[in-house]
Amino acid sequence: MLQLDVLTLDKKSEQVRALANAMNRRFETRSLKDRQVPVFDGPMTLTRDLVDATVTCAWALGASRATLDAMQREDNVPVGVARMIRNPGLRTAKQKELGQRRVAQMRQQRKERSTVPKFITAAQLGLSFQDVFGPKGNVVRGAGHYTAGHRAANAADLANEMRNDHRFHKGKGWGGLSYEVMVADDGTIGFGNPMRRKSAAVASTNTGMVNICCPGTTGDRMTAKQKASVKWLMDNWHTNAVPPAHRLPKKARSFGWKGHHEYPSQSTACPGVMLNDYKEIF
Ligand SMILES: [Zn+2]
Repeated sequence: MLQLDVLTLDKKSEQVRALANAMNRRFETRSLKDRQVPVFDGPMTLTRDLVDATVTCAWALGASRATLDAMQREDNVPVGVARMIRNPGLRTAKQKELGQRRVAQMRQQRKERSTVPKFITAAQLGLSFQDVFGPKGNVVRGAGHYTAGHRAANAADLANEMRNDHRFHKGKGWGGLSYEVMVADDGTIGFGNPMRRKSAAVASTNTGMVNICCPGTTGDRMTAKQKASVKWLMDNWHTNAVPPAHRLPKKARSFGWKGHHEYPSQSTACPGVMLNDYKEIF
């Protein structure tokens, strides 16, 4: 049932069309054109898609969470919401502020999703691995590390660091680089240990473990680009944006992450104060 006092047209179809047009205008002024709904000449009804778009529009304009939930539950557009969409100028200062914050958030998320970081891979670096500890098994946990060494500024530095760490870890009898991922200061992601291989990054807790390492040592913090890449991994590591040999079988955020030394009986300071950055992202 759609009976909106603010829409003076007497046919329901015309009311729906007017609401859709009003939403599309609001979406356009907020650079959310990808959320616009089709408007056509024939009869229009309040479909699920239209209700969903109305919820998004009302959300972007600052409607309260409870109102949005009720709309979704009841497939309906309350008069107050239709009024807000028809005339956003009637909103309270609080609604305006909330709406602006939500739209900024939505744009930021869209930007993050569409920006794929630069990659380098173990295969490109010619790193070969031996299976010393067997398969990784079902991935159930993750750890954040530093190298206790130099930072890596960019892809070239990171390639050197990965080659050196690979040699170092191999020399310890671990079969190769222990980190699945290393991230340079400029956000370049280096895919190292293949996803199927169990590595030796966190003594006694390596089964089902994946590891991220940002080169650096005591007192070093992540750069903004490093943070963005670690965050990108948390959201996209399981997608086909990542080479198959290095792809996580499930979303990184779906299992637990800790700093290296937070795992039981680890006598290391790793990852130093970068733990704060990891915590912020995990
Ligand atoms: Zn560590």
